[in-house]
Amino acid sequence: MVNTECTCCGKDFSRLSPTKIEGAVIEVCDKCVKFGIKADMPQEDSYRQVKPIISGTNFNDIGLELVSEYGKLIAKVRQNKGMSRYEFSKNLNEKESVIERLEEESLEPDDKLVRKIEDFLNITLKERYENPAVQQKGKKKLKLTIGDVIKVS
Ligand SMILES: [Zn+2]
Repeated sequence: MVNTECTCCGKDFSRLSPTKIEGAVIEVCDKCVKFGIKADMPQEDSYRQVKPIISGTNFNDIGLELVSEYGKLIAKVRQNKGMSRYEFSKNLNEKESVIERLEEESLEPDDKLVRKIEDFLNITLKERYENPAVQQKGKKKLKLTIGDVIKVS
């Protein structure tokens, strides 16, 4: 039987194991195996790489985002109702400055405020971003479909 040289320690052995060391799979002896990961075993780092990466998403409300020009929409509907910013802010139990910044779109409302405004003005401020062509501006409330419901359990 011809002995083979261990790539790691350079000694001759009759049996070598393919082992992953520093990213490369090399033939090493039983003693050198401990320096790496056995190549035929599932490797943890490869699992980490295939995990889907979700970025730029509001995790509290996955799949929904504010409509563009939400500030203009709020201002328009509010004015249509003949309501001042002050009256509107009182009804929502918010500061007038908050409403002002919302309408200027220098402030993004949190989910709680979005719901309050949607309910009060009967508008939709958040929509599914997968389908930006469908804009439900106006009277319709956002309807949840089964696909929209995020499982919590
Ligand atoms: Zn060796």
